[in-house]
Amino acid sequence: MDSNIAITTGTATHCPYCALQCGMNVVETEAGWGIEARDFPTNRGGLCRKGWTAATLLNSSDRLLGPLLRDGKGAPLRPASWDEALDRVAAGVRAIQGAAGPDAVAVFGGGGLTNEKAYALGKFARVALGTANIDYNGRFCMASSAAAGLRAFGIDRGLPFPIADIAGADCILISGGNPAETMPPIMQYFDEARARGAQIIVSDPRRTATARAATLHLPLTPGTDAALANGLLHVAVVRRLIDTDYIEARTAGWDRVRRVVASYWPDRVERITGVPARDVERAAVLLGEAARALVLSGRGPEQQSRGVDNSLAFINLALALGLPGRPGSGWGCMTGQGNGQGGREHGQKADQLPGYRQLANPVHRAEVAQVWGVSPDTLPQPGLSACEMLAQAGGAGAKVRGLLVFACNLLVSAPDAAALRKRLDAVDLLVVADPFLSETAAIADVVLPVAQWAEESGTMTNLEGRVLLRRQVKPPPPGVWTDLQVIAGLAARLGAEAHFSGDPATTGAEFRRATAGGPADYAGMAWDRVQEEAGLFWPCPDAAHPGTPRLFADRFAHPDGLARFHPVEYRGSAEQPCAEFPLVLTTGRVMGQYQTGTQTRRVPELAAAEPAAFAEIHPDTARQHGLRAGDAVQLTTRRGTARMAVRLTRDIRRDTVFVPFHWSGEGNANHLTIAALDPVSRIPEYKACAVRLDRAPALTGETE
Ligand code: SF4
Repeated sequence: MDSNIAITTGTATHCPYCALQCGMNVVETEAGWGIEARDFPTNRGGLCRKGWTAATLLNSSDRLLGPLLRDGKGAPLRPASWDEALDRVAAGVRAIQGAAGPDAVAVFGGGGLTNEKAYALGKFARVALGTANIDYNGRFCMASSAAAGLRAFGIDRGLPFPIADIAGADCILISGGNPAETMPPIMQYFDEARARGAQIIVSDPRRTATARAATLHLPLTPGTDAALANGLLHVAVVRRLIDTDYIEARTAGWDRVRRVVASYWPDRVERITGVPARDVERAAVLLGEAARALVLSGRGPEQQSRGVDNSLAFINLALALGLPGRPGSGWGCMTGQGNGQGGREHGQKADQLPGYRQLANPVHRAEVAQVWGVSPDTLPQPGLSACEMLAQAGGAGAKVRGLLVFACNLLVSAPDAAALRKRLDAVDLLVVADPFLSETAAIADVVLPVAQWAEESGTMTNLEGRVLLRRQVKPPPPGVWTDLQVIAGLAARLGAEAHFSGDPATTGAEFRRATAGGPADYAGMAWDRVQEEAGLFWPCPDAAHPGTPRLFADRFAHPDGLARFHPVEYRGSAEQPCAEFPLVLTTGRVMGQYQTGTQTRRVPELAAAEPAAFAEIHPDTARQHGLRAGDAVQLTTRRGTARMAVRLTRDIRRDTVFVPFHWSGEGNANHLTIAALDPVSRIPEYKACAVRLDRAPALTGETE
């Protein structure tokens, strides 16, 4: 920030982006809004370049400042009043539901919504729309670890310990995560551990910035994570590194897992994963001999059609080593989206009610219905998960004919995005609420301009289960409503006015009541308390409760208090390389962009640093295809094509191509990805599909 510019105000709040939820001060200057660092337990004054530039969004001239709608399919978007836009949505909903039933209108939420909004959206779907079909884009991210955590521990809190525990670990295995690029301030904790002598192991097909700083890099073939985890556990058993007392006292199901991993000897694991057997041995010994060890999961093992199995295989390893529940030790998932944790707890998931309750559980239905003032019998049963919902949208015989999208840019984030585009074009009613005209908003029938991160207050739950208050800095621009006002406005038109408030504090108070008694209990987390105490960890059932930074110290959340082992066999990805598509495509993120880029592509500094998609290829692979650095390459899978520039690096496997997924148009990575779903978590397989490379003519700059 220019030191000559006078600072006139400052508000302590949090970053709009990832799940670290760094603390920051937003300051108003004569030149517009700016960011100052703030000491908060997650970031201790640090911010990444996305955080430092976040105020650009508040100064953006690219905001939507009034509703838009189309007078029929194919007509251009035109400005409309809020009354006209909301009336159009309500009329469309009534027409679709009158003809095809309540479930024909679906709702799609986002992991960036505050807890209050995620809660209100889930309630809106069940009470105002009466539809079973609501899900959210967390299904694209952390769903596998969430499902695995529920199965193994009886509860899903991404990190069941504070991130400060990272600094106290003696060995850390990061499976398929790259925090050095995706959430750099968290590296302070890893650096502290390293300075104490901790060993860090990273399994990743790419030698990422995180892997380069590690003691040991395990460059596995995409899709082989379960084999690697089983191999590590095999070695731990053979070398007597497992904690038999812990297994006996705190777990169930070990014998079946022990039998399964017996056949994952290091040579076999090397043949499956490509990781040298000696490194499998070394990693297992480093982990097993550490006094305190962590096994951390990123999206690598999770975004696969066997994502739950992969997560369970690493949890098996952690349990056998006796890690979960001990300080500086355990298994955890490094959630990515800003409110990816809270967003999956409070009812915008297809099967879920607030407080991490289950929609199929009669007791849970009665508890929530009582808070909502409705009969439990009126609540729908669980509906379609995200990708299944999208697969049923639009076209002849479609189960989903209307779709209301909040805080999500599906045309960039969903797998097999070209096919999705055809389906979204064919729905009777597509409504998108967003601060900006995202690629998905641009094809909507009705676009509702909503407030962004610093324009309304609400709580977020970060990757460690810390609930924090993201405070309003400024009001939304004239003509812009908040998501809660939109939900309340639509509910009023659908005859459910009494059940909804557009006020975040009022919604927050009701939300906390609705979580009371649930596994994710926020009842004791009044906003002023959350602010004063730099966040509170759930569960926190009453005002006197200190919160729960560390879970599993004495018992796990299953009724008998024991954690569960789950035997996992390696099965491989849904699509294997072949003569026609000989390489493996894997997708991910870069430091300078966030998710679909709806926000970060509009920040000039970030756009300049990472302006377009690229294909990261090993020089030997590039040579075989006649490609050089900077050449245009066409990537082809069974779903479609994408074109982008070649980046050469020796830090990637020769059989693997990496493409970041933040861009639309000709560089849209999700034109290539496969919508093969995990049978449990229903997460799509972003991390592995078969791909072919061809030289391409010059790039066109084409957009969606
Ligand atoms: Fe922190 Fe994440 Fe924001 Fe970067 S993007 S400043 S790591 S919260």
